[in-house]
Amino acid sequence: MTIAVWDEERRKLMTHPGSRQNDEERIRAITTRLAEVQPASRKVRRDPLDELVLTILSQSTSDANCYRGWEALRARYPDWDAVFAAPDGELEATIRPAGLAKQKSGTILSTLARLREERGRPALDHLETMDDAEAIEYLTSFKGVGFKTAACVLCFAMDRDVIPVDTHIHRIALRLGVVPEKASAVSTHEILNEIVPPELRYELHVLMIGHGRRTCTARSPRCPECAIGELCPRVGVPD
Ligand code: SF4
Repeated sequence: MTIAVWDEERRKLMTHPGSRQNDEERIRAITTRLAEVQPASRKVRRDPLDELVLTILSQSTSDANCYRGWEALRARYPDWDAVFAAPDGELEATIRPAGLAKQKSGTILSTLARLREERGRPALDHLETMDDAEAIEYLTSFKGVGFKTAACVLCFAMDRDVIPVDTHIHRIALRLGVVPEKASAVSTHEILNEIVPPELRYELHVLMIGHGRRTCTARSPRCPECAIGELCPRVGVPD
């Protein structure tokens, strides 16, 4: 999806009657209450290309399997040039613990090939010269790289105040009514990055993922024991 299409979808959703149901005060209250019941997390800043590859490995798998694939990759190759020069099929076999190895190895290798061709070396240092929208548009122009993956690079590797929207955050935002009922993940990304104060974006991202795993699960949200139950209209959650 291009930035133009993204903007158009967002414009329609934001002008839908009743679609904007949130304010900064509510977001701050949600963040405070979730922080009271979850352990604090430490931000680990990685190199942008490392973060991009790690996030590609994390797609459609558990954290444990993602990191097994990541550790295997890092143990086998000293740098990204070595990954690019590996014999056919070797990278796929190496990252197999992370799942979807054929697809993910193809995405990684095509990304490395394009960076080598365009920049002369496999690195994403040039992202620092781009603003958030430019960096997301650039990253999503790589085959197999979506908005969530691009946003993770900005959030975790570049210290940009961006909330990556994964399946947990999308689901919780819908249930909290902070985005319209039919908002896509891309629209949710855009809306959250407008209504959440910049200094809370990283923290809220981490807290919402934890909340989605422990309490506001996809199939059986534990609403009676939810720390933010009083702030939640439970949109789309059956009684
Ligand atoms: S009240 Fe229920 S639906 Fe709302 S955030 Fe909590 S667990 Fe999720």
